[in-house]
Amino acid sequence: MKDFTENNEKLKQTDSFRFFRYSPDKAGCRLIIDNREFINFSSNDYLDLAQHPDLINSAIDAVKNSGCGSTASRLVTGNLCLNDRIEERLARDYRRDAALVFPTGYMANTGMIAALVDRHDTVYSDRLNHASLLDGIKLSGANSVRYRHLDCQHLETLLQQQKTGYKFVVTDTVFSMDGDLVDLARLSALCRKYDAFLIVDEAHANGVFGKNGLGICETSSTVADIGLIMGTFSKGLGSLGGFVVGDRPVIDHLINRARSLIYTTGLPPAVLAANLAALQVVRKEPERRNTLLQNAAKLRRLLQENGIDTLQSQSQIIPVVAGDNHTAVAWAQQLYRDGIIAAAIRPPTVPQGTARLRISVSAGHNDRDLELLVDSIVTAAGKKREHL
Ligand SMILES: *Cc1c(COP(=O)(O)O)cnc(C)c1O
Repeated sequence: MKDFTENNEKLKQTDSFRFFRYSPDKAGCRLIIDNREFINFSSNDYLDLAQHPDLINSAIDAVKNSGCGSTASRLVTGNLCLNDRIEERLARDYRRDAALVFPTGYMANTGMIAALVDRHDTVYSDRLNHASLLDGIKLSGANSVRYRHLDCQHLETLLQQQKTGYKFVVTDTVFSMDGDLVDLARLSALCRKYDAFLIVDEAHANGVFGKNGLGICETSSTVADIGLIMGTFSKGLGSLGGFVVGDRPVIDHLINRARSLIYTTGLPPAVLAANLAALQVVRKEPERRNTLLQNAAKLRRLLQENGIDTLQSQSQIIPVVAGDNHTAVAWAQQLYRDGIIAAAIRPPTVPQGTARLRISVSAGHNDRDLELLVDSIVTAAGKKREHL
């Protein structure tokens, strides 16, 4: 019989063991844990929508009117009409043919890639892409080629090497652990040149970037040029679910082939209603993303003024690299003592030797929150230097 104890012990020895650290009553940029209030810098609720009254009231009404579950796959009888309304709205917002809602962003990515790509094709993937994209590529059985992070030249060299089958290029637009941005105009031009189908994951960008909150595809004016745009309802939009937007034949193909859509139950009324409300709030309240991006710029500036490197971050995700796991965990503990939650992210989520605090800023943070965070980081980092 396989023994799982030994592996767990090994993980504990290198500060790599994962467990559920906090169990709050509710999420948000302030958390109550053991009757103490913490400022949360590890939530992806960038626009502070998880507690927005429009989302809450829409969800309550949906439960009252429609109950708790959708009771079947969307392809059977689980396609509650709210799905159609959300998809029509997404297609309209992005000015593309069609959209498709999945139960989660993870399922959108795995199901979509495995459905579009087969083992004769090649997928070119940024080395720092999200795990769900990598899992989709693995599931597809395609030839997987990883290019250096954000390196279009490297990608071009790889695209030039003769390969049979179709080419797909897959990238995050805002990278989840570094907070840096892809140059989509350049990438989409490259894809056009080499006849490659471009898939972009806007999980950290939809709701956040762009005049209408569509994401980096909007700030780079490439919405019309991208093969498939993926986004999520679970981060900036404060709810749960994934979606993709693209041409009608592609969406129809996914409805027929994406196993994570076909073989799972549709989202329930409360979640769908909150998702639709979130799309409306994103459009109605642009000041949320303005505040968020101002907060992020301010935090990067304060950290840099205090000698803390923020790598290439240009977004609400700001890495503070500690190096080894032990230091990253010690920093996170120091912050916790100061009433701040900032998760220590360790390999394999980030490359070896780059364990870090991953700070995510929210529109719900105020100046004092940011200042307290900077003080605490400076203290934690200073202690380490003395220790050395
Ligand atoms: C979180 C995340 C996902 C998965 O989205 P969920 O809706 O949480 O399942 C996909 N891609 C990226 C880049 C992410 O950060």
